[in-house]
Amino acid sequence: MPLQRLHWPELEALSINVYLRRDDAISPLYSGNKFYKLYYNFRHATTQGADAIVSFGGNYSNHLYSLAAMGQELGIQTIGIVRGYESAKLSPTLEDAKNFGMKLYFLGKKAYKFKDISELLPILNKKYGGVYIVPEGGENLAGVRGCMAMGTAIDKQMFNLLGDSAYTLCCAVGTGSTFAGLIASSPRAQCLGITVLKGKDTISPKVTRWLSLIGKGARSNWSLNAEYHHGGYAKVTPQLLEFMSSIESLNTIKLDPVYTAKLLWAIKELATAGYWNTNNRETSQSTHIVAVHSGGLQGRRGFDLT
Ligand SMILES: *Cc1c(COP(=O)(O)O)cnc(C)c1O
Repeated sequence: MPLQRLHWPELEALSINVYLRRDDAISPLYSGNKFYKLYYNFRHATTQGADAIVSFGGNYSNHLYSLAAMGQELGIQTIGIVRGYESAKLSPTLEDAKNFGMKLYFLGKKAYKFKDISELLPILNKKYGGVYIVPEGGENLAGVRGCMAMGTAIDKQMFNLLGDSAYTLCCAVGTGSTFAGLIASSPRAQCLGITVLKGKDTISPKVTRWLSLIGKGARSNWSLNAEYHHGGYAKVTPQLLEFMSSIESLNTIKLDPVYTAKLLWAIKELATAGYWNTNNRETSQSTHIVAVHSGGLQGRRGFDLT
């Protein structure tokens, strides 16, 4: 997927170049990081002879949406376990997923918290045959491995563009599995993850664990920043939405308020605070920043956007 140099006067004034890696352009249906995270999961499900793939998510889940779309394309039955109770009207995300052929089941918040499908599983197995389970958000080793393809490709693109120069690779972080894949596959980059969830840091230990499971436990070229969540997961402020729309119109791109808008906001805040200035030893050589556009544009429908 192409690297698009962003037109961004505020950062250009600081001699900082931002390149957007356009993984949102993979497909309108299974765009962004979810495609990479699901790739090996589909392969494993197929080689294991599973009859259906089941996974979890909320009403606006990019993950369930992508799973449903890929399942339709590959001719594999998908099942979505949705957090909460079924309401009379499905969200546009779930309506689409259903039209892609996904079967939906709803799980009360408490049972969902523990992903307790002990009662549901025998029913699913009876109805659909053997099911292959993917954790919420595609957070498993197959998911992390899939995301390594992204980091490898970006590293090649940056080498073609700038030779050996250092760069910072930034992405929005939910579960951290995309971030782990990127770190594992881009040893030349300084990796910076922008957390979109509020609360204590449960992500660093997970990233460390994924890295060691793929034999890259020694990697230390990464850090997480949790200061730009804007109040928590899927929470937005008028300032964020205004910023998002200005970047969109400057560059003829679309962003989503949950992940990529917060990512670019964080880059702007860090840049103006001097994070990439020449006195910061960690980042001084890299005024080149790659921001991963991890897709998720269908999730815009959960917000009142023009
Ligand atoms: C799911 C998602 C993320 C977060 O990915 P993790 O691997 O869970 O950290 C980032 N951006 C978008 C658009 C997503 O849909």
